[in-house]
Amino acid sequence: MIKVIIAGFRGAMGQQALQMINEQDNMEVVAVYSPSANADNAKQAGVAADAQVFNHLEKIDVDADVWLDFTTPTAVFENTKFAIEHGYQPVIGTTGLTDQQEAELMDLSSAKKVGGLIVPNFSLSAVLLMKFSEEAAQYFSDVEVIEMHHEDKKDAPSGTALMTAKRIDKVRQAHEQGDSKETMPGVRGADLDGIRIHAVRLPGYVAHEQVLFGGEGEALTIRQDSFNRSSFMKGVQLAIEKVHTVDKLTIGLEQVM
Ligand code: NAP
Repeated sequence: MIKVIIAGFRGAMGQQALQMINEQDNMEVVAVYSPSANADNAKQAGVAADAQVFNHLEKIDVDADVWLDFTTPTAVFENTKFAIEHGYQPVIGTTGLTDQQEAELMDLSSAKKVGGLIVPNFSLSAVLLMKFSEEAAQYFSDVEVIEMHHEDKKDAPSGTALMTAKRIDKVRQAHEQGDSKETMPGVRGADLDGIRIHAVRLPGYVAHEQVLFGGEGEALTIRQDSFNRSSFMKGVQLAIEKVHTVDKLTIGLEQVM
């Protein structure tokens, strides 16, 4: 039985994850954490009566294997650090960690010998989009990334868009694309080594991404759409089941696929 702590269990993703884990025979939620948590709202959210409920990070002291995090960009660093320091293997779905924070957490995970996964996107279509984009970038070096999300998303660009751009950046020759003078600041998007990243925020959207490659007289578009949050749960389940196979903090669901 894999014992799981869910941080952010009252949020949209945390709720889906709680429901998914409650339906499995090989894992259980032993504790939940969120600043607004109490016994009543935990019960309402579907937390089992024997699971512990915490609303302060430093008070968490429970026998568990995995720390599942769906919180906020401002909370995720401290949460992940806490998990590693207390021997809980982190499975981090929350996006917004900076490169420097990731590097610091990776060092800590190696020092403490606690493996974990940072998963910018749990959807299979997004994992494949990144893989195909990396492959295409070997042939098409001019590329732009457009990510589209629901209007409540707190960070931009999305973790997936950033990861896509980084993976493309590894295989292509860095260069600027086009020399348009911006007559409105930001109109060409963010710039990662010349790869432009654009973030769209609209009601009705969940999580979507397009990678546009342009070549001499041809173009290639790779697109993925996550239409609902339950589509992420197969990936969450896999990450919880497989995180014990990694011996350091590692990025991407593909590491355990
Ligand atoms: P959400 O509905 O806003 O939920 C966030 C939850 O975090 C809230 O319930 C909040 O609790 C809790 N929280 C805030 N501060 C906290 C802290 N210091 N410690 C613990 N919990 C805290 O957000 P969401 O849509 O579920 O998304 C959560 C994260 O997952 C975001 O970063 C999002 O980008 C990411 N995400 C990842 C994937 C993926 O595939 N990796 C997919 C979708 C979303 P209170 O209710 O107590 O304020």
